Amino acid sequence: MKQYLQKFPQALLAWFEENKRDMPWRKRITTPYPVWISEIMLQQTQVDTVIPYFNRFIESFPTVQSLADAPQTELLKMWEGLGYYSRARNLQKGAQFIANDCKGIFPPDFESWQKVSGVGKYTAAAICSIAYGHFTPVVDGNVLRVWARLNCMKDSIKVESTKTKVYNELIPYIESSQDASWFNQAMMEMGALVCRPKSPLCTSCALNSFCQSYLKNCVDQFPVQEKKAPVPHKHAMLWVIECKGKYALIQREERLWHGLFTYPFEIVKDTPTLSTAKTEFKKRYGPATQWEEFSVVKHQFTHFSLDIHPFKCKVNQTQLPTYTYEEICALPLPVPIRKVLQKIFN
Ligand code: SF4
Repeated sequence: MKQYLQKFPQALLAWFEENKRDMPWRKRITTPYPVWISEIMLQQTQVDTVIPYFNRFIESFPTVQSLADAPQTELLKMWEGLGYYSRARNLQKGAQFIANDCKGIFPPDFESWQKVSGVGKYTAAAICSIAYGHFTPVVDGNVLRVWARLNCMKDSIKVESTKTKVYNELIPYIESSQDASWFNQAMMEMGALVCRPKSPLCTSCALNSFCQSYLKNCVDQFPVQEKKAPVPHKHAMLWVIECKGKYALIQREERLWHGLFTYPFEIVKDTPTLSTAKTEFKKRYGPATQWEEFSVVKHQFTHFSLDIHPFKCKVNQTQLPTYTYEEICALPLPVPIRKVLQKIFN
């Protein structure tokens, strides 16, 4: 344990006691189930966005068995708008594993939780500390930032070896706190509310007397930033196909939006014109009439940005499954596809 941090766990917990936000999963920790659901939802997503999703999810799927048995379309509909849909599919796979292979008994420790689909080290540490009180430090983006600033840490927080190093460094402090659940939650909350990525609230921070970067006046240098590679930009040519008052949709089997429903589309290199859309459509689906072009829908993914170019047309017959407007509204759709729907029908 570092000399300058000896009293930091107590200061952190005292601050958390006074300042913690009200979160629904903090009230329900009788089993690991709500902790697991909330931790998966909180990956890449803000607390305020997660709260209504969490409440609806727990109400619809109150037990691991009900999640295991849920129709996937219903599950994805519940997840619509939260993004990163593989999280929902992995949650269900995990629930099936616990309900069937483990006979409904939750994994008992850090190692065994990592065998559950979609649960990595960070999520396993969060579940085990919050639900069981095990001294397993959470190392997420918030914790890494707080720790890098407290210690003027020069390692890049993007690399796996730094996460392992920070995990090991945190163990004596989480043990000294004597409350694993609150220590981890307090570290995450400190990163989210005070030690924010931009404009950290250092002068009023409960940890400023321990914080090396604050005391040395170099907070802006931590965590060490690496140059980001430019995000590639792509285009999608999308066809809204009307056939006898209904519209063709496909259920995705590819990795992107797997299980969700979309209008047929193709990823292309350059901005598609109406003429290209007609030609490519004819090659795939045959003749069509009454073409219309709509304005672009933009969407940002983690690894690329996408401009969706919607083209609408009419056909007399199609091999694709078709749906009424009302039926489409009830299906799980990716957010940009829902935006296309609104553009076409408003
Ligand atoms: Fe973060 Fe500033 Fe607090 Fe240090 S003093 S932990 S940099 S908010």
